[in-house]
Amino acid sequence: MSLQGKVAVVTGSTSGIGLAIAKAYAGAGAHIVINGFGDADAIEKERADIETQFGVEAVYSPADMSKGDQIAKMIADAESTFGSVDILVNNAGIQFVSPVEDFPVEKWDQIIAINMSSAFHAIRAALPGMKARKWGRIINTASAHALVASPFKSAYVTAKHGIAGLTKTVALETATFGITCIAICPGYVWTPLVEKQIPETMEARHLTREQVINDVLLHAQPTKQFVTVEEVADLALFLSSEGAKSITGTILPIDGGWTAE
Ligand code: NAD
Repeated sequence: MSLQGKVAVVTGSTSGIGLAIAKAYAGAGAHIVINGFGDADAIEKERADIETQFGVEAVYSPADMSKGDQIAKMIADAESTFGSVDILVNNAGIQFVSPVEDFPVEKWDQIIAINMSSAFHAIRAALPGMKARKWGRIINTASAHALVASPFKSAYVTAKHGIAGLTKTVALETATFGITCIAICPGYVWTPLVEKQIPETMEARHLTREQVINDVLLHAQPTKQFVTVEEVADLALFLSSEGAKSITGTILPIDGGWTAE
């Protein structure tokens, strides 16, 4: 599958699912904007490795996905560096686990900003160029939590359900412009985001680490296996291809059967 000459912005791509998607796009020939937080040297190594391994250009944007002005600048900078933003993956996300009555207000605001409003800001900035060129792919990394809830994840579930609504609306507004907008909904994928919520879930549910992994996380997934970052990246790659041009407005689970129950 070739994305030769295309330009992809992948938010939250210094780790986990976003990094795997960025590499899959680079492997298909797209130039890449990586984004996210982390150790500066490690990020620079990852960026340089993408260029060397795949023979594409990769630039790093430090934009904070909780800040609308920084998000708009990231898209504008990508357009001036490469001439276009053809593929936008709104993937940056964080999690926090707590009963709703104890949920810290600043965590709620942060999760709504990073996991939901960031996609609005990035789409708003990228759409004029996509519409003018009559081609675009917008992929929002939602979650099985865009379709079903779990206790103690009020902000995350709210943000991911919001992403589903945004996805459908953008798909309708762009349907005649050669642009698609899809929400991919992974079940549990073993990444730092999942690892970090294990102690919080142990506390919220009074469970051991093993109980959280087997009785909470894998309990949700009939396959009893974590989804892999490579599987999510393969899906994103296909959804960015010409063959996927009729898949739009779709809220698409990749969750080992979780949301079938
Ligand atoms: P991760 O922690 O490995 O990666 C998250 C990325 O987002 C990192 O690059 C991080 O630096 C970046 N990020 C966080 N806050 C940011 C901010 N303010 N500005 C810019 N970047 C920021 O997690 P992951 O599991 O790869 O998660 C990626 C996406 O997938 C998230 O939207 C998450 O909700 C979603 N998701 C994950 C799972 C899972 O089980 N891991 C399941 C469903 C959905």
